[in-house]
Amino acid sequence: MARNVFKLTRRAALFGSGAIVGAGGWSYLRRNLPVLDGTAHLATDNREGYLNDASGLSQTPVASHRMLGLADQEDLVGSLREELRIARNNGQPIAVGAARHSMGGHSLPRDGRAVTLRHDWLFADPAAGTYRVAAGARWADVIRHLDAIGFSPKVMQSNNDFGVASTFSVNAHGWAVPFGPAGSTVRRVKLLTADGDLIACSRRENAELFRLAMGGYGLFGILTELELEMVPNARLEPSYEEMPAAELGSAFVNALSGNPDIRMAYGRLNVDRDGFFSDAMLITYRPADDQTGIPVAQESGFVSRMSRHIFRAQLGNEPVKQLRWGIETRLAKTISGSATRNSLLNEPVVTLDDRDPDRTDILHEYFVSPESFPAFIEACREVIPASYQELLNATLRYVMADRESVLSYAPEPRIATVMLFSQEMTGRAEADMHRMTHALIERVIAIGGTYYLPYRPHATVDQFVRAYPRAREFAAAKRRYDPGLIFRNNFWDGYLAEL
Ligand SMILES: Cc1cc2nc3c(=O)[nH]c(=O)nc-3n(C[C@H](O)[C@H](O)[C@H](O)COP(=O)(O)OP(=O)(O)OC[C@H]3O[C@@H](n4cnc5c(N)ncnc54)[C@H](O)[C@@H]3O)c2cc1C
Repeated sequence: MARNVFKLTRRAALFGSGAIVGAGGWSYLRRNLPVLDGTAHLATDNREGYLNDASGLSQTPVASHRMLGLADQEDLVGSLREELRIARNNGQPIAVGAARHSMGGHSLPRDGRAVTLRHDWLFADPAAGTYRVAAGARWADVIRHLDAIGFSPKVMQSNNDFGVASTFSVNAHGWAVPFGPAGSTVRRVKLLTADGDLIACSRRENAELFRLAMGGYGLFGILTELELEMVPNARLEPSYEEMPAAELGSAFVNALSGNPDIRMAYGRLNVDRDGFFSDAMLITYRPADDQTGIPVAQESGFVSRMSRHIFRAQLGNEPVKQLRWGIETRLAKTISGSATRNSLLNEPVVTLDDRDPDRTDILHEYFVSPESFPAFIEACREVIPASYQELLNATLRYVMADRESVLSYAPEPRIATVMLFSQEMTGRAEADMHRMTHALIERVIAIGGTYYLPYRPHATVDQFVRAYPRAREFAAAKRRYDPGLIFRNNFWDGYLAEL
C-alpha cells in the first residue's frame, strides 16, 4: 500500500516559510535595490520580424519563424527540407529551437529562418530500457509517457519545459546520479544534414557526427528524433547534511562513491552577502522502503507555485535571504518527505518566474574538479558580492566525466554550480554582469574549470578557446560538414566564426 501520511515536500517547506515571512511583518520584505530613475531600459517589445530568447536580452532580426507542431508530424522531414531549400536559395542561415531558454541567441539565426519544433510522439521499449522520441518533445511530455509505464528519464535538466533535442544539443546535465551529461544516455539520433539527407548517428554509425552534434548547438544539422535510455521510476526519500561550503566538493565525492543506492543528489549554498557561500547543504535521495502504489507524477502544484513568494522576497533583501537559508537547513529537513523520481523531475520553469518587466533571470554555471572546489568558493566570494547583481540561488550537482562530446564541459568528473541571478533590464546592469562574468570565468579557467555555454555571451573568444580547448577542431569540423554554413546561430556568429 502507498503511504498516505501527509508529508510536506521541499517546496511546501518553502511555502511555509512564506507565511512565516508574512508574519514577520511587511517591513521585513522591503527591497533595498538601486532606483531605476535615469537608467535606459533594455526591455524589448517582441517586434514583428524579431525573435528573442528567455533572457529577453537577445532580440535578433529573423527573416521568418515557422512553428512545426503536432499537425506536421506526418511530414516533418519534408517541411524541414523545404525550409532548408528556401534558406539555401536565399542565402539565409537556419536555426531550429524548442523552448528557446538558452540565453545567448543559441537558437536564433540572424536575418535567417528560425524553426520551432513542437511535437511529442514517443515509443518505449521497456525490455531494452530505451525509448524513441520526437526531437521537439518537451520533457513534460516524456515524463507523462514514461510515468504511465513505470519508467523515468535517465538524465534531464532540472526543469521539464525544455526540448529533448535541445538537451542533446547543449548536452545538458541534471541531478540524477551517478551519470554524466544527457548525451551519455542517448543511443542514436536522426539528423537532417546540410545536404538534406536524413541520416542515423550513433556510436557506431556516423560516430564523428554523433559526437559533434552532442553539445553541438544545432550547428551540424536538424535532429528529428532521438533514442534514449530510461530507468525505473521509484519513490525516493531525502537526507540532508550541513557543512562548510568549501567541503561540499569532497562531500559529494564521498557520498556518491560509498553509497550506490543514492539516486539523486544536489547541493545548496547560502547566498546572503554577509556570510556569502560560507555554508552548504547536501541533499541526497535514496529509494524508500515502500515502493508499492507509486502515485502519478505531479507537476508543481499550488504549494510549489506559492514558494516563489519567499524565493522572490529575497530580492534586495538580505534578512530574507538569511531567513530562507535558515528555513531550508532547519525546517525543511525535518518536515520534507518522499517523492517519486518523476515528480522531482517534473518541475516547470514558470514555478519561480519573476513576472517583473524591469528584471530578468540570468543563469551562470561553472564546472570545477572536486579538489578545486574550495578555490572556486574563494573566487566566488571575491567576485560576486563585489558586483551589484542579485544572486537568489546557488545549486550544485555532480557530473561524471564526458569524454565523447567535442565541446565537453566535464572532461573529468566535475562539481557543477548553477547560479540564478535576478538582473535589472538596464544598460548599467548588463555592463556590470558582463564585467562580473568575465572576472568569474577568468578565475574558473585559472583553476582548470569551465563555464557553461548556453548562457549569456559574456565570455571573450579568447576565454572560450581556453575553456574549451577543442573549439578550433569543432569549428573546422563544422566547415567540413556544412561548408555553406547554413546552420548558424548567434553562438556561431559570436564565437566560432572567428576560429
Ligand atoms: C531555468 C533554467 C534551468 C536550467 N537548468 C538546467 C539544468 O539543470 N541543467 C542543464 O544542463 N542546463 C540547464 N539549463 C540550460 C538548458 O538546458 C538549455 O538552455 C537548453 O537549451 C534549454 O532547452 P530549450 O528547449 O529551451 O533549448 P533552445 O534554446 O530552444 O535550443 C538550444 C540549442 O539546441 C539547438 N536545438 C534545439 N532543437 C534542435 C533540433 N531539433 N535539432 C538541432 N538542434 C536543435 C538550438 O539550435 C540551440 O542551439 C537551464 C536553463 C534555464 C533557463
